[in-house]
Amino acid sequence: MHMIPPPPDSVRLCIHTITTKPWAIEEAVERYAAAGVKGITVWREALAGRDPAAIGTCIRDHGLTVVSVCRGGFFPADTGERRLKAIDENRRCIDQAAALGAPLIVLVCGALAGQALAESRKQIADGIAAVLPHAAAARVRLAIEPLHPMYADERSAVNTVSQARVICNGLKSPWLGIAVDVYHTWWDDHLEEEIRASGQEGTLFAFHLCDWRTPTVDILEDRGLMGEGCIPIRQIRGWMEQAGFKGFNEVEIFSRRRWATDQTQYLEDIKTAYFADV
Ligand code: ZN
Repeated sequence: MHMIPPPPDSVRLCIHTITTKPWAIEEAVERYAAAGVKGITVWREALAGRDPAAIGTCIRDHGLTVVSVCRGGFFPADTGERRLKAIDENRRCIDQAAALGAPLIVLVCGALAGQALAESRKQIADGIAAVLPHAAAARVRLAIEPLHPMYADERSAVNTVSQARVICNGLKSPWLGIAVDVYHTWWDDHLEEEIRASGQEGTLFAFHLCDWRTPTVDILEDRGLMGEGCIPIRQIRGWMEQAGFKGFNEVEIFSRRRWATDQTQYLEDIKTAYFADV
Protein backbone atom coordinates (compact mmCIF):
# COMPACT_ATOMS: atom_id res chain seq x y z
CA MET A 1 0.00 0.00 0.00
CA HIS A 2 1.38 3.38 -1.01
CA MET A 3 0.63 6.93 -0.04
CA ILE A 4 -0.57 9.35 -2.71
CA PRO A 5 2.12 12.04 -2.73
CA PRO A 6 1.55 15.74 -2.06
CA PRO A 7 1.42 18.19 -4.99
CA PRO A 8 4.60 18.30 -7.05
CA ASP A 9 7.49 20.66 -6.60
CA SER A 10 7.39 23.73 -8.87
CA VAL A 11 11.11 23.40 -9.64
CA ARG A 12 10.42 20.10 -11.40
CA LEU A 13 7.91 21.51 -13.89
CA CYS A 14 9.03 21.07 -17.49
CA ILE A 15 7.04 21.79 -20.64
CA HIS A 16 7.50 20.27 -24.09
CA THR A 17 7.64 22.86 -26.86
CA ILE A 18 4.98 20.86 -28.77
CA THR A 19 2.54 21.65 -25.94
CA THR A 20 2.54 25.31 -27.00
CA LYS A 21 3.12 24.55 -30.67
CA PRO A 22 1.92 27.96 -31.97
CA TRP A 23 4.88 29.63 -30.21
CA ALA A 24 8.26 29.72 -31.91
CA ILE A 25 10.94 28.32 -29.61
CA GLU A 26 12.30 31.78 -28.76
CA GLU A 27 8.88 32.89 -27.58
CA ALA A 28 8.26 29.64 -25.69
CA VAL A 29 11.56 30.05 -23.82
CA GLU A 30 10.72 33.62 -22.86
CA ARG A 31 7.16 32.80 -21.76
CA TYR A 32 8.09 29.65 -19.84
CA ALA A 33 10.84 31.50 -17.99
CA ALA A 34 8.52 34.41 -17.15
CA ALA A 35 5.94 31.91 -15.85
CA GLY A 36 8.48 30.27 -13.54
CA VAL A 37 8.77 27.03 -15.51
CA LYS A 38 12.20 25.49 -14.92
CA GLY A 39 12.56 22.85 -17.61
CA ILE A 40 12.01 22.62 -21.35
CA THR A 41 11.96 19.64 -23.67
CA VAL A 42 12.70 20.68 -27.20
CA TRP A 43 10.97 19.08 -30.17
CA ARG A 44 13.21 18.87 -33.22
CA GLU A 45 10.57 20.63 -35.34
CA ALA A 46 11.07 23.70 -33.13
CA LEU A 47 14.76 23.75 -34.10
CA ALA A 48 14.13 23.94 -37.85
CA GLY A 49 16.32 26.66 -39.33
CA ARG A 50 18.01 27.37 -35.98
CA ASP A 51 21.50 26.81 -34.64
CA PRO A 52 20.93 24.34 -31.79
CA ALA A 53 23.95 25.61 -29.85
CA ALA A 54 22.56 29.17 -29.92
CA ILE A 55 19.13 27.95 -28.82
CA GLY A 56 20.76 26.00 -25.99
CA THR A 57 22.55 29.15 -24.83
CA CYS A 58 19.32 31.15 -25.06
CA ILE A 59 17.51 28.54 -22.94
CA ARG A 60 20.21 28.54 -20.23
CA ASP A 61 20.41 32.36 -20.26
CA HIS A 62 16.71 32.35 -19.36
CA GLY A 63 17.37 30.13 -16.36
CA LEU A 64 15.79 27.06 -17.92
CA THR A 65 17.19 23.53 -18.05
CA VAL A 66 17.09 21.56 -21.29
CA VAL A 67 15.50 18.31 -20.15
CA SER A 68 15.45 16.37 -23.40
CA VAL A 69 15.05 16.37 -27.14
CA CYS A 70 12.02 14.77 -28.79
CA ARG A 71 12.51 12.68 -30.64
CA GLY A 72 14.66 9.99 -32.19
CA GLY A 73 13.77 6.43 -33.07
CA PHE A 74 11.70 5.01 -35.94
CA PHE A 75 14.17 2.18 -36.48
CA PRO A 76 12.07 -0.55 -38.19
CA ALA A 77 12.00 -0.54 -41.97
CA ASP A 78 11.51 -3.04 -44.75
CA THR A 79 15.03 -2.88 -46.21
CA GLY A 80 18.51 -2.85 -44.71
CA GLU A 81 19.22 0.37 -46.54
CA ARG A 82 16.26 2.13 -44.92
CA ARG A 83 17.26 0.81 -41.51
CA LEU A 84 20.76 2.23 -42.01
CA LYS A 85 19.21 5.56 -42.99
CA ALA A 86 17.24 5.57 -39.74
CA ILE A 87 20.43 4.88 -37.79
CA ASP A 88 22.16 7.82 -39.54
CA GLU A 89 19.21 10.06 -38.74
CA ASN A 90 19.46 9.07 -35.08
CA ARG A 91 23.17 9.92 -35.06
CA ARG A 92 22.27 13.37 -36.42
CA CYS A 93 19.66 13.71 -33.69
CA ILE A 94 22.32 12.86 -31.08
CA ASP A 95 24.64 15.53 -32.55
CA GLN A 96 21.82 18.05 -32.42
CA ALA A 97 21.01 17.18 -28.80
CA ALA A 98 24.68 17.48 -27.85
CA ALA A 99 24.91 20.91 -29.51
CA LEU A 100 21.78 22.03 -27.69
CA GLY A 101 23.19 20.77 -24.40
CA ALA A 102 20.39 18.23 -23.94
CA PRO A 103 21.33 15.24 -21.78
CA LEU A 104 18.61 12.96 -23.19
CA ILE A 105 16.77 11.98 -26.36
CA VAL A 106 13.33 10.39 -26.22
CA LEU A 107 12.93 7.51 -28.66
CA VAL A 108 9.63 6.81 -30.40
CA CYS A 109 10.92 3.49 -31.59
CA GLY A 110 8.81 2.86 -34.68
CA ALA A 111 6.88 -0.01 -36.23
CA LEU A 112 5.99 -1.16 -39.69
CA ALA A 113 2.39 -2.06 -40.51
CA GLY A 114 2.36 -5.60 -41.81
CA GLN A 115 5.63 -6.58 -40.14
CA ALA A 116 5.47 -8.78 -37.05
CA LEU A 117 5.84 -6.75 -33.86
CA ALA A 118 8.53 -9.13 -32.61
CA GLU A 119 10.59 -8.47 -35.76
CA SER A 120 10.10 -4.72 -35.33
CA ARG A 121 11.27 -4.98 -31.72
CA LYS A 122 14.36 -6.85 -32.89
CA GLN A 123 15.09 -4.10 -35.44
CA ILE A 124 14.56 -1.50 -32.71
CA ALA A 125 17.05 -3.23 -30.41
CA ASP A 126 19.54 -3.55 -33.29
CA GLY A 127 19.07 0.12 -34.21
CA ILE A 128 19.58 1.30 -30.65
CA ALA A 129 22.66 -0.94 -30.32
CA ALA A 130 24.06 0.68 -33.46
CA VAL A 131 23.67 4.25 -32.16
CA LEU A 132 24.58 3.68 -28.50
CA PRO A 133 28.34 4.19 -28.97
CA HIS A 134 27.63 7.54 -30.65
CA ALA A 135 25.27 8.51 -27.83
CA ALA A 136 27.84 7.55 -25.19
CA ALA A 137 30.60 9.52 -26.97
CA ALA A 138 28.30 12.58 -27.09
CA ARG A 139 27.20 11.97 -23.48
CA VAL A 140 23.54 11.96 -24.51
CA ARG A 141 21.28 9.34 -22.95
CA LEU A 142 18.52 7.60 -24.89
CA ALA A 143 15.10 6.86 -23.43
CA ILE A 144 12.75 4.32 -24.99
CA GLU A 145 9.21 5.64 -24.70
CA PRO A 146 6.66 2.81 -24.73
CA LEU A 147 3.62 4.00 -26.71
CA HIS A 148 -0.01 3.07 -26.16
CA PRO A 149 -0.86 -0.09 -28.16
CA MET A 150 -3.18 1.91 -30.45
CA TYR A 151 0.08 3.07 -32.07
CA ALA A 152 1.53 -0.43 -32.52
CA ASP A 153 0.84 -0.44 -36.26
CA GLU A 154 3.31 2.23 -37.32
CA ARG A 155 4.59 4.37 -34.45
CA SER A 156 6.00 1.91 -31.95
CA ALA A 157 6.25 -1.83 -31.45
CA VAL A 158 7.30 -1.10 -27.87
CA ASN A 159 4.00 -0.70 -26.02
CA THR A 160 4.75 -1.49 -22.40
CA VAL A 161 7.41 -0.66 -19.85
CA SER A 162 8.02 -4.42 -19.70
CA GLN A 163 8.94 -4.54 -23.40
CA ALA A 164 11.19 -1.50 -22.99
CA ARG A 165 12.91 -3.21 -20.05
CA VAL A 166 13.62 -6.28 -22.19
CA ILE A 167 15.52 -4.07 -24.66
CA CYS A 168 17.33 -2.19 -21.88
CA ASN A 169 18.30 -5.42 -20.14
CA GLY A 170 19.49 -6.88 -23.45
CA LEU A 171 21.77 -3.93 -24.21
CA LYS A 172 22.78 -3.05 -20.62
CA SER A 173 24.11 0.45 -21.11
CA PRO A 174 24.09 3.37 -18.66
CA TRP A 175 23.13 5.48 -21.69
CA LEU A 176 19.87 3.61 -22.31
CA GLY A 177 16.68 3.87 -20.26
CA ILE A 178 12.95 4.47 -20.39
CA ALA A 179 10.59 7.44 -20.64
CA VAL A 180 7.32 6.70 -18.85
CA ASP A 181 4.41 8.69 -20.29
CA VAL A 182 1.16 8.42 -18.33
CA TYR A 183 -0.86 8.67 -21.56
CA HIS A 184 0.75 5.55 -22.98
CA THR A 185 1.01 3.42 -19.87
CA TRP A 186 -1.86 4.21 -17.46
CA TRP A 187 -3.98 1.23 -18.59
CA ASP A 188 -1.26 -1.37 -17.83
CA ASP A 189 -2.15 -3.45 -14.79
CA HIS A 190 1.56 -4.21 -14.28
CA LEU A 191 2.59 -0.55 -14.39
CA GLU A 192 3.41 -0.14 -10.71
CA GLU A 193 5.65 -3.21 -10.56
CA GLU A 194 7.26 -2.37 -13.92
CA ILE A 195 8.11 1.14 -12.73
CA ARG A 196 9.55 -0.34 -9.53
CA ALA A 197 11.66 -2.84 -11.50
CA SER A 198 12.84 -0.13 -13.88
CA GLY A 199 13.85 2.00 -10.92
CA GLN A 200 15.88 -0.88 -9.48
CA GLU A 201 17.57 -1.30 -12.88
CA GLY A 202 18.45 2.40 -13.00
CA THR A 203 16.53 3.08 -16.20
CA LEU A 204 13.81 5.53 -15.16
CA PHE A 205 15.02 8.46 -17.27
CA ALA A 206 11.92 10.59 -17.93
CA PHE A 207 8.29 11.14 -16.95
CA HIS A 208 5.68 12.67 -19.28
CA LEU A 209 2.26 14.05 -18.31
CA CYS A 210 -1.08 14.75 -19.92
CA ASP A 211 -4.52 13.19 -19.57
CA TRP A 212 -6.86 10.84 -21.45
CA ARG A 213 -10.06 12.49 -22.63
CA THR A 214 -13.35 10.63 -22.98
CA PRO A 215 -14.21 10.43 -25.76
CA THR A 216 -10.84 10.87 -27.43
CA VAL A 217 -11.71 12.22 -30.88
CA ASP A 218 -8.24 12.06 -32.46
CA ILE A 219 -5.72 9.36 -31.58
CA LEU A 220 -2.79 11.75 -31.87
CA GLU A 221 -3.88 15.32 -31.22
CA ASP A 222 -6.61 15.20 -28.60
CA ARG A 223 -4.66 14.78 -25.41
CA GLY A 224 -6.02 16.37 -22.28
CA LEU A 225 -4.66 18.79 -19.76
CA MET A 226 -3.96 17.06 -16.45
CA GLY A 227 -7.27 16.69 -14.61
CA GLU A 228 -9.37 16.62 -17.78
CA GLY A 229 -9.36 12.86 -18.08
CA CYS A 230 -9.25 9.51 -16.35
CA ILE A 231 -5.54 8.90 -15.75
CA PRO A 232 -4.54 8.54 -12.05
CA ILE A 233 -1.64 10.91 -12.63
CA ARG A 234 -0.75 11.63 -9.02
CA GLN A 235 -0.73 7.93 -8.17
CA ILE A 236 1.59 7.16 -11.09
CA ARG A 237 3.87 10.05 -10.07
CA GLY A 238 3.94 8.48 -6.62
CA TRP A 239 5.09 5.17 -8.12
CA MET A 240 7.82 6.98 -10.05
CA GLU A 241 9.08 8.79 -6.97
CA GLN A 242 8.90 5.66 -4.80
CA ALA A 243 11.02 3.96 -7.49
CA GLY A 244 13.66 6.67 -7.06
CA PHE A 245 12.83 8.99 -9.95
CA LYS A 246 13.96 12.54 -9.21
CA GLY A 247 13.73 14.14 -12.64
CA PHE A 248 11.36 16.66 -14.15
CA ASN A 249 7.59 16.28 -14.50
CA GLU A 250 7.21 16.98 -18.20
CA VAL A 251 3.95 18.35 -19.57
CA GLU A 252 3.55 17.03 -23.11
CA ILE A 253 0.14 17.70 -24.65
CA PHE A 254 -0.75 17.43 -28.32
CA SER A 255 -4.10 19.16 -28.61
CA ARG A 256 -5.47 20.89 -31.68
CA ARG A 257 -8.23 22.23 -29.43
CA ARG A 258 -5.70 23.85 -27.07
CA TRP A 259 -3.40 25.06 -29.85
CA ALA A 260 -6.37 27.07 -31.19
CA THR A 261 -6.69 28.99 -27.91
CA ASP A 262 -4.68 31.85 -26.36
CA GLN A 263 -1.37 30.21 -25.40
CA THR A 264 -0.62 32.67 -22.59
CA GLN A 265 -3.84 31.70 -20.82
CA TYR A 266 -3.13 28.05 -21.62
CA LEU A 267 0.27 28.30 -19.91
CA GLU A 268 -1.48 29.60 -16.79
CA ASP A 269 -3.97 26.71 -17.01
CA ILE A 270 -1.08 24.26 -17.26
CA LYS A 271 0.48 25.64 -14.08
CA THR A 272 -2.84 25.47 -12.24
CA ALA A 273 -3.46 21.90 -13.40
CA TYR A 274 0.10 20.89 -12.49
CA PHE A 275 -0.38 21.72 -8.84
CA ALA A 276 -4.01 20.52 -8.65
CA ASP A 277 -3.85 17.26 -10.56
CA VAL A 278 -0.26 15.99 -10.77
ZN1 ZN B 1 5.69 11.33 -24.11
